[in-house]
Amino acid sequence: MTARTTTSHAVDASLAGAVNSAVWFDGFERKPADVLVGAHECDLLIVGAGFGGLWAALRARARHPEWSITVVDAQEIGRAASGRNGGFVSYSVTHGLANALARWPKEAGQLERLGLENLQGFADDLRASGIDGGFRKAGKLQVATAPHQLEELAASVAKANEYGRPLELLDAEQTRARIDSPTFIGGVLDPVGTCLVVPYKLAMEMRDALARQGVAFFEHTPAQKLEADRAGMRVRTPAGSIAAGKVVLATSAFPALLCRNRLTTVPVYDYALATQPLTDEQFESIGWRSREGLTDSANQFHYSRVTADGRILWGGYDAIYHYGRRISPELENRPETFRKLAEQFFETFPQLDVSFSHAWGGVIDASTRFSAEYGTAFGKRVAYVLGHTGLGVGASRFAADTMLDLLDGRHTERTSLEMVKRRAVPFPPEPVCAAGINLTRYELARSDRNEGRRGLWLKTMDALGLGFDS
Ligand SMILES: Cc1cc2nc3c(=O)[nH]c(=O)nc-3n(C[C@H](O)[C@H](O)[C@H](O)COP(=O)(O)OP(=O)(O)OC[C@H]3O[C@@H](n4cnc5c(N)ncnc54)[C@H](O)[C@@H]3O)c2cc1C
Repeated sequence: MTARTTTSHAVDASLAGAVNSAVWFDGFERKPADVLVGAHECDLLIVGAGFGGLWAALRARARHPEWSITVVDAQEIGRAASGRNGGFVSYSVTHGLANALARWPKEAGQLERLGLENLQGFADDLRASGIDGGFRKAGKLQVATAPHQLEELAASVAKANEYGRPLELLDAEQTRARIDSPTFIGGVLDPVGTCLVVPYKLAMEMRDALARQGVAFFEHTPAQKLEADRAGMRVRTPAGSIAAGKVVLATSAFPALLCRNRLTTVPVYDYALATQPLTDEQFESIGWRSREGLTDSANQFHYSRVTADGRILWGGYDAIYHYGRRISPELENRPETFRKLAEQFFETFPQLDVSFSHAWGGVIDASTRFSAEYGTAFGKRVAYVLGHTGLGVGASRFAADTMLDLLDGRHTERTSLEMVKRRAVPFPPEPVCAAGINLTRYELARSDRNEGRRGLWLKTMDALGLGFDS
């Protein structure tokens, strides 16, 4: 086997055959749902059919078997971020313990426990509904690629151990014995806090299970307007309207239906590549026998995993915001990011001479507090969640339960959390928003080059509890 030379020509050649589509979409024949036409009624309307909306439907069906439930999506079920992500299901509902400790220190232990219970519930619900979703208790290896990250990883292990989580610090040799890269100088193994799913397969199987349970789906049916009426809510769509007792809004990065949420998050594009399937010999050269999830530790980090047919998915690093909160399908194709990701892949695995089969992007809802905000409107007839900031696969189930608690008017452990009661600091309007985000990205990259030292801008943002992440 020959190692690849990473000249720009070789990088371009490795991407030449890549299709601009998520690897997870391959092999699925779409079963299109109807477009909603005319008047429709239901007890619960869910707007958005990503994992947020699908979990809301599954959890609502379990709580209220008698309710009629309808899900509408402006585009196609599970085809936005939910169908195209890395498939890491994190136990954390706060974007990590460090973020919980920085924002809700008194509740950090409770949030950790609730997160672990949510991960267990995630697995239990899939099993109970006969959904496979490619769910695996895979664990995660987080590696250090720069000396200053070793200290940060050691501190994070000590903190996690304090909170009862069995993280294990690995030296360079132990790390490379799991997954071999000359850039890995240490790591942390989390054997239980991360599972893996096959995202689009999971979304499609959730849809099928819900359809069997009587949930109605409509695609290409954007909710355009919410109004209160005597019986509940009325939601207008281009060719009809829906009268609903209650409404869940799970619209993520897309323009918020409630004015109050227009500045709560910003849409940020995240990108990924998938290689051609590796040969046995190529796998031999990198190890990766346990097929755990892999991330590195810089501010601008990568995530990576192996697919069932032996491809390596490699994503992250760039998190791109477009002026004016722009969202558009053409932004899912970003050759300069794909080239950067490919270069970084070959720096990490110089022993692999492979090309890429897929290159794609998707849009996430970034919040200044890196984790979701919850709320209600129209006299608690509407509940919403937004702002999972790139870690919503597991957290969307927790969010579904929280929204249903709020709609049911139930005071629960979830609804009494500061995280649920308090709003996130919104992003500013343009042009300040784009300027602030671009400066933050520049400073994060500078900090990565500078042994993790944070400049004045990042320190000020940290002190204010504000940030930009994916
Ligand atoms: C490349 C990439 C990699 C990622 N990797 C991971 C990962 O490994 N682990 C992880 O936890 N998270 C990851 N994420 C983030 C994760 O995918 C999201 O947090 C999660 O899928 C959010 O689900 P959602 O339902 O809130 O949003 P979405 O999946 O975006 O779904 C929202 C849906 O709402 C619909 N909609 C919006 N407005 C309306 C309207 N007015 N009317 C009707 N429908 C509407 C949209 O069409 C869309 O289908 C990644 C994201 C990307 C893009």
